[in-house]
Amino acid sequence: MTSRPAAAPLAPLLVSAGCGAAGLGLVVAALAGHPAVGTARALLGGAGAALLWMACLYLRQTLRLRRARDSAERARSQLLATLEILPDGLAIYDAQDRLVLCNARYREVVPGTTVPMEYGIQFEEVLRRAAESGEILDAQDDIPGWLAGRMARHRSPAAPEVQAVQGGRWMQITEKLLGGGGVVVLRADITEAVLKERALTEALNQAELAERRLREAVNAMPAGLDIYDEQDRLILCNDFMASLRPHLPVDTSLGKTYEELLREGLKHGIPEEAQGQEELWLAHEMALRGHRPAPEVRHYPNGVWMHMHERRTPSGMTVVVRLDITDLIEQRQKLEEARQESQRIRQLLERAVEALPVSIEIFDHQDRLVLYNQQLSRMYPHMNYAEHLGKSFAEILRYSVDRGLIPSALGREEAWIAERLSEHGSRTSTLVQRLADGRWINIYETRTPENYVVAVRLDVTDLIEQRQALEAAQTAALQAQQTLQDAVESLPEGFALFDADDRLVVCNTQYLRLYPISAPMIVPGSTFEQIARYGAERGQYPDAIGDVEAWVAQRIADHRAAAHAVLQRLPEGRWVQADERRTPQGGIAGVRTDVTQLVHKEQELAAANAQLALLSTTDGVTGIGNRRRFDERLATEWQRCGRHQTPLSVILVDIDHFKLYNDHYGHLAGDECLRHVAQLLQGMTRRADEVAARYGGEEFVLLLPDVPQADAIAMARRCMAGLRDAALAHARSPTAPVITLSMGIATMVPRADRGSDTLVQAADAALYRAKSAGRNRFEVFDPAP
Ligand code: GH3
Ligand code: MG
Ligand code: MG
Repeated sequence: MTSRPAAAPLAPLLVSAGCGAAGLGLVVAALAGHPAVGTARALLGGAGAALLWMACLYLRQTLRLRRARDSAERARSQLLATLEILPDGLAIYDAQDRLVLCNARYREVVPGTTVPMEYGIQFEEVLRRAAESGEILDAQDDIPGWLAGRMARHRSPAAPEVQAVQGGRWMQITEKLLGGGGVVVLRADITEAVLKERALTEALNQAELAERRLREAVNAMPAGLDIYDEQDRLILCNDFMASLRPHLPVDTSLGKTYEELLREGLKHGIPEEAQGQEELWLAHEMALRGHRPAPEVRHYPNGVWMHMHERRTPSGMTVVVRLDITDLIEQRQKLEEARQESQRIRQLLERAVEALPVSIEIFDHQDRLVLYNQQLSRMYPHMNYAEHLGKSFAEILRYSVDRGLIPSALGREEAWIAERLSEHGSRTSTLVQRLADGRWINIYETRTPENYVVAVRLDVTDLIEQRQALEAAQTAALQAQQTLQDAVESLPEGFALFDADDRLVVCNTQYLRLYPISAPMIVPGSTFEQIARYGAERGQYPDAIGDVEAWVAQRIADHRAAAHAVLQRLPEGRWVQADERRTPQGGIAGVRTDVTQLVHKEQELAAANAQLALLSTTDGVTGIGNRRRFDERLATEWQRCGRHQTPLSVILVDIDHFKLYNDHYGHLAGDECLRHVAQLLQGMTRRADEVAARYGGEEFVLLLPDVPQADAIAMARRCMAGLRDAALAHARSPTAPVITLSMGIATMVPRADRGSDTLVQAADAALYRAKSAGRNRFEVFDPAP
């Protein structure tokens, strides 16, 4: 490395230039002896141009004085001294990139280069040393890579390079190519500038973040926010506010004045209350702008209610906040409606309370009278409830008691008041109160969940008097009942009274004794049918056995007819006569008489009568029926066969020559003969309704109901045959040696226009013919001749 001489008078000039930016001028001066000086001069310009020009001028002088080595040496020393003054490191490399010149500061900033930075060292070598020293932070991870990159940027027209170095410092490397191929490298410590820039960037970022957050927060507000500047121009409007002004897009609204925005709204009919008087409204609005005395409530077209707060800031801005109070307003409206409804209901209640036919009073939770109706005043005319309103229950009680209005409190006033107070609203039963004027009042008290006491009072004087009358009537009825019972019991017969519904009202013991089986059912309230059926089903009535239903039906029919006495057969041969009669009230009174003995006697009498009747129609000699029986039966059968239009036959029988028999055999024998013939004829009858009777003397008759003529003839033949077989001797008979008979047969279907005697007469006529014809024969009546 060869040192170049420097011009001695250069130093004062450089010092006078005195700034880092002029450093490049000094570099050029240092190159005075260098062949590339022309190029360098061409490159230099800008602020240091004048200085450079002066340096060049000096260099030319120096060239002219190059031989003056001492002077040059001195100049070089002075240049170096000058370079040392520079605050930045400065180095000059030649076209071959060899270090030509550098100041101490340049060496300082590459502290790893422990060996003094000798002139002539290659730029790349300087870089390597610096990188390997660890000074350059960017190079630490990959020294060759960094070196390659750095060398690629070396001598390129790139922007100054900034390097982070040890100690938290920053270096800016500026390269400036020189005309002769050299390069000036200036290393400036820009740590402070970098730190300031960083702080600034950080501050800017913070400011941006803060602004973004503020904007988000403003947009997130559940309220509208407008901010106007000192000239009342809109500078901020959040999303909420924008949504309230759909007619004014935010981007076109920003920058407009409040008044302009109001006018824009008026064009769209907003607000409603301004319509028709827009200018007046606007004037009023602008007059208030910025100093509204209080927040205002505004109604927006979509039904939204807003509370508008307007404030002026100290710097003159206007901040407008609108709070959505729609819910509050609606709640207030609902509350108001509810209040009116409650008022209406209260009025209705008051009217209802007045309309009630009972008196009402209501005491509040402190037991003070808060409501009463006019019925209460009417019930207690001596009380002025208007005066008592608001008074306590205790005071009202005392007022009444002091005036002797409560008879039950007389003589024990304090105790009565204490009792009444203790049970106020808690009584579980109705309180009945007697008033001094004799009225009876029922008091019903209820405590409501609100701890109010509602007292209802009802004048029950009428009810109580009615009840007393009823009780008296009941007592009288009971006595009457007892009297009736006594009377009924005193009857010798059984007695039962049924009401209009056929239910047993009363009966006596005798009645029960007559019907021991039915007795469990014979109780007041049982119906007649229940009693009758109960007894019939259990054997109380022997006649009911086998067909209970029919018996019960007949019994009920007889009972209800209540027209005649009915005889009832009871077990063990007992008899009861039931005599029932309707009462004027529609009931049935029945008397039961035990007629067992009477019935038994009646039965005996009937049997005797029957025997008597039998005897009166029996022939004493023959033992068969007599003429009376025949006449009775003839009359009956004449009627019956007439009804049924069936034939009725009669056979008259006469013993032939009986006088002669008597004469021959004697009268007793005659009687015997009569009995014989009678038995024979009787034996010939087959059916119960056929009658064989002695008609008189030695004449007999056969009555044959429902027997046609042919059968009557057959009957006559059988009789004759029977007699023939009997062969009763009659020695004197001119007809035959035995008893013979003559018979007259007549058959008729009875007619209403004829008597039964016509039949007998007909038979008699036939008999006559049989006698005439020679006896021992029968003849049949022929109605034709
Ligand atoms: P005829 O063939 O014409 O019938 O002749 P008859 O003799 O049977 O008839 P008449 O009328 O002349 O006589 C009837 C007799 O019957 C007369 C009477 O003495 C007799 N007689 C009537 N009643 C009784 C009686 O109760 N007992 C007896 N032993 N005879 C009687
Ligand atoms: Mg005769
Ligand atoms: Mg005769």
